[in-house]
Amino acid sequence: MNSRNPDLQEGTMIHAPVLVLNRHYLPVHITSVRRALSLLYRGAAKAIDGRLEPLDFPTWCQLPPSKGMPSIGLVSQRIRIPRVILLRTYDQQPYLKLRFSRQQVLRRDRFTCQYCGRRLPGRELNLDHVIPKRYGGKTTWDNVVCCCLQCNRKKGGRTPEEAGMTLIRPPRIPYTTPVVCALGRTEIHEEWRPFLGLSDHESSH
Ligand SMILES: [Zn+2]
Repeated sequence: MNSRNPDLQEGTMIHAPVLVLNRHYLPVHITSVRRALSLLYRGAAKAIDGRLEPLDFPTWCQLPPSKGMPSIGLVSQRIRIPRVILLRTYDQQPYLKLRFSRQQVLRRDRFTCQYCGRRLPGRELNLDHVIPKRYGGKTTWDNVVCCCLQCNRKKGGRTPEEAGMTLIRPPRIPYTTPVVCALGRTEIHEEWRPFLGLSDHESSH
């Protein structure tokens, strides 16, 4: 009928994103409320409350549903929706290799020419092969850097040594975590911020 229909809201709520932390409080990935409640119920995870205390399922269930805190109806009662859960035994932090692309190189190098250190808009930056292609240099994470048009022209088809230029930082393969990848696709809850190292003014290109 409308968005206030409780069944409709709960149907959406069960798929809402929940941040999953490993037992060292490091973000691991993002799951759904449905899966988070299942982990809590089985004792595999604890829910993090507003004071950053990990609570087991029976304790969490006793928290009264309060205004502004979404809750969900289970068979016999209503319980609060957890926004963050802490896995009890998992201590890994999975990493993913990023696929190579021009945009990702610009991001890795923070839109900064790796020779002169100027930060510029993407359209004023080129990709530079540190070891030039004519010397067998490959188009790979560890041989390509972000470079301004002037430095690119100055370097020409030479190595940095030949051109008398120095790299600010040797290029490396960037890694990311499933959480970082997922953040671009989901809304970020306030309750996640303490665990993501995000400030309120975090901006991205
Ligand atoms: Zn430059």
